[in-house]
Parts: sequence; C-alpha cells; structure tokens
Amino acid sequence: MSFKDLQLINPLLKAIEEQGYTNPTEVQQKTIPFVLSKKDVITSAQTGTGKTAAFALPILQLLSDKQDAPRGGKTIKALIISPTRELALQIGNNFKAYGRHTNLRTTVIFGGTSIEPQIDVLTKGVDILVATPGRLIDLQKQEVINLNQVEILVLDEADLMLDMGFIDDVKHIESLCPKKKQVLLFSATMPFKVEQLANSILNFPQRVEV
Ligand code: AMP
Repeated sequence: MSFKDLQLINPLLKAIEEQGYTNPTEVQQKTIPFVLSKKDVITSAQTGTGKTAAFALPILQLLSDKQDAPRGGKTIKALIISPTRELALQIGNNFKAYGRHTNLRTTVIFGGTSIEPQIDVLTKGVDILVATPGRLIDLQKQEVINLNQVEILVLDEADLMLDMGFIDDVKHIESLCPKKKQVLLFSATMPFKVEQLANSILNFPQRVEV
C-alpha cells in the first residue's frame, strides 16, 4: 500500500516524499482511513511504529479540507495532549514538517519555561495546538486559550499520561472542548484505567492494534 492509496491530498504527499517515507507503516495504514472518515479511534501502538504520522497526517487533511472557509484568528481546531515536553515537541515538529505545504499553523506549549512567548504565539492564532496538560490549563484559566472550537482531540501516550497522574487534568481539558468532536486515543499499553478513560470520552471508537 502507498500513501496515495490512503487518499491523502497532494500537499501532504509532497511533504511525505520530502521526509523520505516511501510507504505507510502498519499503524498508519490501519489508523488513517478511520480518522479521515471522522471516527473516534483507539490505537494501541508503541513509539517508533510511526503512530504520530498516523494521527498528524489525517488531521492536517481534515483541517485543510475546510480551509476555504475563513479561519477565526484564535480558534484551535485540533488539540493534541502529550504527557511530556519532549514528546510534545516531537509531535509539534512532525505536524510542522507534514503540514509545510498547507497553511495550517501548529504551536507547542509546555510547562517549566517562560509563559510569555507562548502567549504571544497563541495570540496570533493557531490551528493545531500540541500541549502538556498543566500549561494548557494555566493558559486556559488566563483566557489565552479557548477550546470551544476544537474539532479533534488527541490523547497521546494515554497510559503514560495516567501513570504521571494527569487523569483529572485530561478529563477537565476534555470537558472544555465541545461535546461533539472527534477523539483519538493512542497508548502503548491498554490497562483497565486507559479503557475506563476511553469509555468515558470516546464515542463508538474503532480499534487498531499493531
Ligand atoms: P513515531 O512512532 O511516531 O515516534 O515515529 C517513529 C519514527 O518513524 C519517526 O522518526 C518518523 O519520522 C518515522 N516514520 C514515520 N512514518 C514513517 C514512514 N511511513 N516511513 C518511514 N519512516 C517513518
């Protein structure tokens, strides 16, 4: 199977080629069609399987499909929650690389660093926000971030997120997003507490295991 078989649009195919990827990995082959058809998805896959592109590519496609509509300056359309700064930065870099031939703007925010530059970027407007939970909640409380236009929510490394004690933060963040949205959950392992979280947030999810 090729990336073209996955019905990806040319600006994405071009960026994929520039990345030097020849074929989609298994997790990409299985996950991308579900995301493009706007289903909720639970994917169990380890880091290193290509899982980031499995959500980043179809999200970029879904959002750029709608780009002829005027975009509100500050409205975040996709929100990716990641447990650590390093993972958030990696995800952000992937979105920027894959989205380089689209007009979509990606920003990464995380704690442990000064908040002002993050506020400046957010004020200019972003389409895709990658965030660690604590800093996201801080910025939302300060009304720098408004999540009420989020169309797609991704919980990445859900098992790690729960191990790190972010369960209440994740639930709170989810509650700040519109009720009607597409939710994608990625986890290396699927312990009971991840299943419970999935049951409480996802709507008739498709399941992918690699
Ligand atoms: P991830 O599992 O998302 O952390 O990705 C692991 C690595 O695989 C990253 O360095 C990606 O750039 C790379 N990668 C993702 N998809 C592909 C692909 N289809 N072909 C080759 N490399 C890929």
